[in-house]
This record gives sequence, C-alpha cells and structure tokens, in this order.
Amino acid sequence: EAKAAGRQTHVFFSPALRETRERRHRLAEALRTAIAADALSIAFQPIVAAGSSNHRGFEALARWTLDGQPISPAEFIPLAEETGLAVPLGKVLMARALRLAVRLAATGIDPGTISVNVSAAQLREPDFAATVAAMLAEHGLPPERLEIEVTETVIFGRSAERIALTLRELRKLGIRIALDDFGTGYASLAHLKRIQVDRLKIDQSFMRDVETDAEDAVIVRAVIGLAKALGMDVVAEGIETHEQLAFLRRHGCDLAQGYLFGRPTTSETDLVSYLNAAEHE
Ligand code: C2E
Ligand code: MG
Ligand code: MG
Ligand code: MG
Repeated sequence: EAKAAGRQTHVFFSPALRETRERRHRLAEALRTAIAADALSIAFQPIVAAGSSNHRGFEALARWTLDGQPISPAEFIPLAEETGLAVPLGKVLMARALRLAVRLAATGIDPGTISVNVSAAQLREPDFAATVAAMLAEHGLPPERLEIEVTETVIFGRSAERIALTLRELRKLGIRIALDDFGTGYASLAHLKRIQVDRLKIDQSFMRDVETDAEDAVIVRAVIGLAKALGMDVVAEGIETHEQLAFLRRHGCDLAQGYLFGRPTTSETDLVSYLNAAEHE
C-alpha cells in the first residue's frame, strides 16, 4: 500500500505532469484574455451536396493563435469548458461566425447554412435561445440559416433535461440542430426519437477506411438509412478522397464535408473565390 501511495505521489509531482498543469494554467489565462479582446477567429469549411458537390453551407470552426502558434480547438475548447470559459468563448465565436456569414453574403453570393458548434455549458444557460435569436436579429440573418452542432455526449450528459429544452426552443425559432460526431458517443436510437434533430453528422473516424473496412462500411450505410428513415439529413465528415465520395453517392448520403471539397479557412478572399467558383443549390 505504501508502495502504491508512493508511486501515486511520484506520479502527481512528476515534472511532466507539472509542466502540463502549468501549460494549462497559462493557456487558460491567455484564453481569458483572448476572449476579452475578441482575438479568436472563425474558419469556414464547406459542406456540399454529396451527389453534385454543389455548395450548401459552411461549418464554423474556432481558431486561436497564441504567440504565433496555432492552438488546436481540440485543446482549447475542452480547456474553456473546464475553466468556466465556455459561455463567453461561445458568445464571441457565434458573433464572429455570424459576422463572417454577413460579410460573405454582402458579396452577393449566398453562403448557405452556417453550422456553429456549441458546448454543453452554453445550452445549459436558460437564455441561450433568446441570446442567439437576438444575435441573429442584430446581424439580419434569418434563423433558418443557422444550424447548431451538438455532440451526443452533450445531449445525453449532465443537465440533459435543460439542454433538451434549449434545443426545443432553438428549433421553435427555426434554428436547425445537428448531432455531431454521430456514432462515437452514446446516443441510443430511443433517445434519437425523443430529441428532435434535423441532421446527423457521421464522424470522420468511420469514413477514414470506409472503402476497405467492411464494418465501417456497414455502420455508415446504417446511419445513412437511419437518418433517412427518421426524416433527417445526413452529412459525412472527413471526406478526403474521390473513393470516399463515390461510396457516399452509391449509398445516398445527402451531404459531405472534408478536405476534398475545401479545408477550413479564415481567409475571406479564399472563401469569396470558393463561393464564386462553386455551384449552388
Ligand atoms: P467537429 O465539429 O467534428 O469538426 C470537424 C473537424 O474535422 C475540424 O477539426 C475540421 O478541421 C476537421 N476536418 C474537416 N475535414 C477534414 C478532413 O477531410 N480530414 C481530416 N482529417 N479532418 C477534417 P478542428 O477544426 O480541429 O475542430 C476540432 C473539434 O473542436 C470540432 O470537431 C469541434 O468538436 C470542436 N470545435 C471547433 N470549433 C468549435 C467551436 O467554435 N465551438 C465548440 N464548442 N467546439 C468547437
Ligand atoms: Mg462540428
Ligand atoms: Mg464532427
Ligand atoms: Mg469531431
């Protein structure tokens, strides 16, 4: 027992772990400052119709650069969630995404549906739907143009009832809901019936080897079928090859997203040229 405790103490004070904790603390402070200074940005990545590759919308993805170094959202989003920054961060990111959408629309080309990722803490705020409605009005964007992406873990985790209520409020406003990273969390089919979502996003981990891995192929086909049967549309994420796209077309997937169609970019010049070149539907 003493040995086990000793080992634990050793692990707890290991230099590597302390470094990690110090980095996290530094990052959290820097993130707080960046939020207050509105210093984060939004990249847009195209979502296209799988059948035609025509443009349908953009997913808004958070970007943050600290001292010239890009920090991955896979690092700073969880950090924000653990340090009570998810709500203020979400607010500046939503505002950025709407502003970018408005600026693109001002060039005369419809940017389509804008999909914004949100954290559980945002959906737990009782005034979230009202806040989003006010932001849409301020930017002159119709609610139908906004889609909120939530992960399964968010919907079925802590405060599931409050979150379900917020999602219903958002839908009542005309805002669409997408279930992100579908298949990686713990959504059961019964839950899917209970909460109303407009779209399923098949996680990119199922797409990576879809042409060679028979099980992945079965899962992707099943999710496409499930979405159709429940009247939702379905997006496959992480599409990088023509072979993956051909698979989606063969199996009637509605929408696709991935480097094959466009990488996420913060460059408005690039987004405008993409929109100019794209077919729309
Ligand atoms: P997500 O919402 O599932 O976003 C898709 C991720 O896949 C993005 O990573 C995107 O850059 C990446 N991706 C897109 N196409 C491809 C492809 O063809 N191949 C590969 N390998 N990757 C591709 P990113 O931007 O690093 O974001 C990671 C995650 O961080 C997101 O996953 C989302 O869960 C979260 N996130 C990003 N922005 C926000 C935000 O504004 N708010 C919240 N709450 N979460 C965010
Ligand atoms: Mg997403
Ligand atoms: Mg996803
Ligand atoms: Mg993801």
